[in-house]
Formats: sequence, structure tokens, C-alpha cells
Amino acid sequence: MCKFKLSFLIVSIVMVSILVTTTISIWGSYQSFNEILIENNRDLQEEYQKEISKIKEVAMQDSENVIESEAMFEQAANHLLEVKVVSFNVLIERLVFPLVLSIVMIAALIVWIAIKIVRPLKGLATGIEGRGAIQSLEEIDDWYLEAYHLKKAALNTLTKSRKRIADLTNQLKLDSLTGIPNRRSMDQVLNELFTNKVPHAIVLIDLDNFKNVNDTYGHTAGDEVLKAFAKIMQESVIKHGICFRYGGEEFMIILPTTTIEEAVEVAENLRVKQALAENLFGQPVTLSAGITAFSTAIKTPKQLIATADQALYEAKQSGRNCICVVEEFSGTTF
Ligand code: GH3
Ligand code: MG
Ligand code: MG
Repeated sequence: MCKFKLSFLIVSIVMVSILVTTTISIWGSYQSFNEILIENNRDLQEEYQKEISKIKEVAMQDSENVIESEAMFEQAANHLLEVKVVSFNVLIERLVFPLVLSIVMIAALIVWIAIKIVRPLKGLATGIEGRGAIQSLEEIDDWYLEAYHLKKAALNTLTKSRKRIADLTNQLKLDSLTGIPNRRSMDQVLNELFTNKVPHAIVLIDLDNFKNVNDTYGHTAGDEVLKAFAKIMQESVIKHGICFRYGGEEFMIILPTTTIEEAVEVAENLRVKQALAENLFGQPVTLSAGITAFSTAIKTPKQLIATADQALYEAKQSGRNCICVVEEFSGTTF
């Protein structure tokens, strides 16, 4: 769509206003003067004819009384000079009123155009904030070029910054090493499940003797093992639940609407997979896991994690590379 440049628009409006006002004034004055003069001439003519006929009458009564006739001519001429040329009312009605009317109309037109110019700018200044900012910006009538560019820039900046915020928010929820959801996300999910009283089981996993991997092959190799495990874990439970990195070499699987038996099956499959997984070190990096489930006896996510931790501790005590279940929360959480 064709857009006008604001500078061009303002100059054009000023020029057109001046031109129109001047034209109306000159034309109006010309017309009024003409009418006034014609009327005046007609009045004068009438007066003149009256005076002439009076003189004629005097002259006809006494043809020798020329001196008196001359005096009467002079008196008539003086009388004509005394006739008011233009009355004040005529001046107002014919000249001032049309002029004021045209000025008022042009002023109203200028005010209307000024409001039309200011409205998009006002919209741009106020519409950039709030939830519906993009929609309010899109609704702005960008009928001139500068408003069009400003609206485009504002929309661009807003869209980019929103996308950036969304990206950063997503990044905040993910673990930077493995790319899976982090503990912050885990807390959120558990809180939601507890709030909505959704039955669920959890599997707390700890890689066995991981310190040895770091000590023997280095921290970078350890990182690769963590990444590889996160991948295997996600592939194994993708249909059943969500995986999180709990911290260090510890992970968590949340299995909504899952019983302890089903959770044990999922964890056991993963344990076997990990124990058989190929790696660069010749020996497998195995896992131990503690399992528990949401119940009336477990009141908070903290208690649930503490119970799973208890089960994990028992798995470690049982010689590692195994899974233990604890169903009742015992003890205190801080
Ligand atoms: P256990 O079987 O009892 O769990 O023994 P473990 O050696 O796995 O346990 P421990 O808690 O002694 O050691 C955990 C190690 O995990 C120590 C720490 O350096 C390592 N670790 C934690 N986070 C990372 C990480 O992001 N990258 C690497 N490479 N190592 C990590
Ligand atoms: Mg550990
Ligand atoms: Mg460990």
C-alpha cells in the first residue's frame, strides 16, 4: 500500500491551507466588493436622479434663475458625498463572516489531520507494553511512511525479544551438559503432580563408582559417559515418563500414573541396557536406582525424594548395579 512521507505531508498541508485560505479570501472579497459597489452605485443613481428632477422642477418654474440652479447642483453633489459608502453590517456580513467561516473550516481540517498523524505515534508509544502488545501494535493504522517504519521496527524488536526470552526460559529449564531437563524443571513437575494429586512413581538413579571413571579417564571422558547415559535413559522411558538430571551423576525419572511394579520394570530395562552399553573403557558404567511412589503417607515432593534416596542407599548397600524399592517415608526432611 502507498504510504506518505510525514515531512512531505506536513509541507503539503501547510501549502494547501495557505493557498486555499488566500484564494477563498481574495475571491470572497472580490465578490463582496463587486456586490457592494453595484448596490452603492444603484443607490447613488437613485439619489442623483431625485436631485436632478428637483433641480429640473425649479429650473422649469423660473428659467432665468440659473444661479439658484447652480447652487442646488452644488448642494446635491455635497449630499451625494455624504452618503455612507459601506455600512458596518454590510462589511461584517459580506466580508468578515465568509472569511472567518473559511478559516474555521480550514483550522478544523488541520486539527483532524494532526489527530490522524499523532494517533499512530501515541499507539506506538503506549502499545509496546503488556501481554497483547503485538496485537495492539498490529492494529495501529500506519498510513504514513514514518509510522509504517516505526511500527515495523517495534514489531520486529518485540518479536525478537519475546523469542529471546522464551529461548532463555527454555535454557533455564535444561541441563547444559546433557540437554535434558534440569532439577528446577523436576521440582516444577513434582509440585504440579502433588498439587493435582496425580499418582506417580519416581526412579532416582546414581551411576556406580563414577569417581573412578573421572579419576581413570579424565573429567571430559566422564562428561561423555553422562551424555551417553542421558541419551539411553531418554530413549528407554520416552513413552512412560520424563527424565531429569538431578545433579552430578544422579538422575531422576518421573513416571506419571504409573505403579511401583511398572516403575520397577522400566528401571530394570534401563539398568540392563546401561550395563550392556558399549563404552571406550572396556568395563560398563552401571547404575543403581531407588524407586518409590506418591501415596497418602508421603505428603511433599521432598518426602518423596527422601524415600527414593533411602531406596537408592539400600541399592548401593546391596552391592550396586541393582534396584531397590521403598514405599513408606521414614524420617524427617529439612
Ligand atoms: P557411588 O557408586 O557410591 O555412587 O560412587 P561414585 O564414585 O559414583 O560416587 P561419588 O559421589 O564418590 O562420586 C561422584 C563423582 O561424580 C564425583 C564427581 O567428580 C563426579 N561428577 C559429578 N558431576 C560431574 C560432571 O558433570 N562431570 C563429570 N565428569 N564428573 C562429575
Ligand atoms: Mg552420587
Ligand atoms: Mg555414583
